[in-house]
Amino acid sequence: MTKLRLAIVGAGPAGIYAADILLKAERKFDVSIDLFDHLPAPYGLVRYGVAPDHPRIKGIINALRDVLDRGDIRIFGNVRFGTDITLADLKKHYNAVIFATGAIKDAELDIPGIDAEGSFGAADFVSWYDGHPDFPREWPLDAASVAVLGNGNVALDVARVLAKHADDLLSTEIPANVYDGLKASPITDVHVFGRRGPAQVKFTPLELRELGELRDVDMVVYDEDFDYDEASKAAIASNKQVMVIDRVLQSWRQRPSVNNAGGEASRRLHLHFYARPVEVKTDAEGRTAAIVYERTRPDGSGGVEGTGELREIEVGQVYRAIGYFGSPLPDVPFDKRHGVIPNHEGQVLHKDSNERVPGVYATGWIKRGPVGLIGHTKSDAMETVRHLINDQGSWWTPEDPSEDAIVSLLAERQVAWTDLDGWHRLDEHEIALGAPTERARIKVVDRDEMVRVSRGE
Ligand code: NAP
Repeated sequence: MTKLRLAIVGAGPAGIYAADILLKAERKFDVSIDLFDHLPAPYGLVRYGVAPDHPRIKGIINALRDVLDRGDIRIFGNVRFGTDITLADLKKHYNAVIFATGAIKDAELDIPGIDAEGSFGAADFVSWYDGHPDFPREWPLDAASVAVLGNGNVALDVARVLAKHADDLLSTEIPANVYDGLKASPITDVHVFGRRGPAQVKFTPLELRELGELRDVDMVVYDEDFDYDEASKAAIASNKQVMVIDRVLQSWRQRPSVNNAGGEASRRLHLHFYARPVEVKTDAEGRTAAIVYERTRPDGSGGVEGTGELREIEVGQVYRAIGYFGSPLPDVPFDKRHGVIPNHEGQVLHKDSNERVPGVYATGWIKRGPVGLIGHTKSDAMETVRHLINDQGSWWTPEDPSEDAIVSLLAERQVAWTDLDGWHRLDEHEIALGAPTERARIKVVDRDEMVRVSRGE
């Protein structure tokens, strides 16, 4: 029977779903899959993107772990595509590759001052609080008042983690340095800015409602943002999600903290709508000092137009949460404008000619862009895998498809790769670190230590 030797690059949900779907699919050939990741641990954005106080979403890891624990997928962690293994290596040892490398960078926001000291990408902050090994251990939480730009779920995650008292995060898996950093934070006010109105937000009702439940944090909304136009009214009437969001916001309008008056909590989380960020102002030393925004108004069709009225709020830090962005991979086509690998339903295309690149596939956020919930990645993987199966005639013909070949190659290059047993060791080690304080786990953050524990060294 023909055998498909498949490499998947990226061991997040996109890569693991693709492997699982292929292994379960009806097909006329055997399959053997090697899953590579540049990190020593699997699960990608579930481990390093989902907020630590969202255990329900983190729970997706259990389903992903069940797939890996079946033992029919080999894992090679701590292996960097482009240096430790290249596309030429994959062509030598596999019939095809699926790239599932996701998107971890922040989209750019082209406004004056955005590169000032104290202005950050939200994705970087998320990587810090989720203990990503490639990010600095220290985060300068030194501002009393901060701005979060954007109205998606990442903006709410960042605003919530910033506003929450560190002790309310202690039961989660946050690393010790993150707890210490948040505990020392002098924050009192978090201002979230959406350039459109409450009926056009991208965040979801559950995540919004959660903000109202934070201990010792007042939600502040402003009456001027609720003078809805016809398009907003129609959206609220016709879309259940928008309706619930409106209901939650309206309930906060009944609280004493509306329009910034009368709340008693030591911290406040302000939601500003119809507020388009236009400049980050700096002090004489070049540090973030204020956010300037233009008041917008509905344009009648769900969009907004500027009113020309500029407003300013003093803030010591700015976090832009306006979307993630994919990163290019060596020797793989890349669409710089959209931050994705150009593809047709997961079949990778040459950038200029739009012709297919045989043997090369993409799935997840690097395929369709950084939108949608983790579950959406499954249907994405199905589409990619369907093409991979049907394309049998155009797979690569590898020189040495033996399973040992890649192991020898990595050993020859002195790559300290981690495998499934290694992940189990790290997993158990993290759980044991949490046990004395009755926490589910404490994450190991240092890459070398992750590798050492995984490899039992
Ligand atoms: P997102 O949902 O696409 O939201 C991006 C936000 O940034 C939008 O409000 C957008 O406004 C705004 N924006 C974009 N460009 C802007 C600009 N130039 N100026 C001002 N605002 C700008 O992206 P995300 O928050 O990064 O989330 C990515 C995906 O992950 C989403 O599907 C999200 O639901 C998911 N996620 C889910 C959870 C969860 O379930 N708890 C947590 C985190 C992330 P416009 O709408 O006006 O463009």
